[in-house]
Amino acid sequence: MSKGAVLIISGPSGCGKSTLTKELLRVIPNLYFSISTTTRSMREGEQDGVHYHFVSEQEFLTQVQEGRFLEWAQVHNNYYGTSLEPITHALEQDKLVLFDVDVQGHRDIKAHFGDFAQSVFITTKNKEILKSRLQSRQTDDEHTIEFRLIQAYEEMQHLHTFDYLLVNDDITQAREAITAIAKSLLYRNTRQNEELLQNWNKL
Ligand code: ADP
Ligand code: 5GP
Repeated sequence: MSKGAVLIISGPSGCGKSTLTKELLRVIPNLYFSISTTTRSMREGEQDGVHYHFVSEQEFLTQVQEGRFLEWAQVHNNYYGTSLEPITHALEQDKLVLFDVDVQGHRDIKAHFGDFAQSVFITTKNKEILKSRLQSRQTDDEHTIEFRLIQAYEEMQHLHTFDYLLVNDDITQAREAITAIAKSLLYRNTRQNEELLQNWNKL
């Protein structure tokens, strides 16, 4: 694998993954955000084909049977999956492919791409802050928020398996950090060395 780059972000729901993804889409022109397929219902402000491909459970399971997913998982009682074909295409076009997946998705994508894929675990300084972010987002009821907080602590147990850890406290600093990590991937040696060596000695 010598073209493109892969960045995986994971972290508890409400930690700021979508907010930081927006920033990356703004500052990195060559970024391709892997649009997952999901059976969860659309939130206010979300668009089909932009944030997710929203499908029925039946349609999702058909795609599983057809082997269309690089990985898929059940998260918070909904199915989520990553299609392989658009990612391969984006890498061929030398894009930086960004995945926003849960910790199981991270493990599977790492297994597929190896060290070529770099990953960031994003979280908050503590549970209280996560709770207040989930409340401020106004997309979940109190019961769902309590459930997400339990899930969050379980996900935190996997943070040592990631290449980078980003505590999203001050938003300006977090934006700078995620941008620095993403940009650093564009300079990885494995990305360009073959082409450089082939062309370097030509007069
Ligand atoms: P995720 O995509 O990980 O579920 P979001 O990006 O939707 O999380 O963020 C959850 C909420 O927290 C949103 O209302 C967002 O505006 C807010 N938020 C994100 N980062 C920060 C931050 N550093 N400080 C304060 N609020 C934040
Ligand atoms: P949300 O419903 O809040 O957008 O996402 C819930 C969780 O599902 C998050 O942890 C998110 O990273 C994860 N997720 C989103 N898409 C995928 C995917 O394609 N595969 C996996 N494994 N997890 C996903």
